[in-house]
Amino acid sequence: MDCLFCKIVEGSIPSQKVFENERILVFRDIQPAAPVHVLIIPKKHIASMNEVQEEDLPLIAEMHQVAQQVAKDLGVNESGYRLINNCGPDSGQAVHHIHYHLLGGAKLGALTGISDSHA
Ligand code: 5GP
Ligand code: ZN
Repeated sequence: MDCLFCKIVEGSIPSQKVFENERILVFRDIQPAAPVHVLIIPKKHIASMNEVQEEDLPLIAEMHQVAQQVAKDLGVNESGYRLINNCGPDSGQAVHHIHYHLLGGAKLGALTGISDSHA
């Protein structure tokens, strides 16, 4: 399967890992939008939030638990952070392997709504 994040999971594309267990990988975003910007992904290929099945719910819950741990490890748990999932064309989802962005380390801008950037 031609999926960028599956290749990162396999190791055929390198990444700066910050957390890994049997089910989940966290690595730094290549184009950081904040001083702390990591991507939390399941090792299992799930294309987007729309494809999450009931059997995946423990995995999705664990991604939140990992987000909490990584926020602590990267020193933003007290200062605060934002967890974002893009799903589908209007969100600008570019990589079709489900992921959360964890952003922090600076005062973040207001949540964006309608924008020209990918209109
Ligand atoms: P999306 O727009 O799908 O929510 O987010 C995809 C994210 O993946 C973007 O923030 C982009 O910078 C990041 N990204 C794209 N290609 C690579 C890559 O090869 N390595 C890493 N570490 N991040 C990537
Ligand atoms: Zn994938």
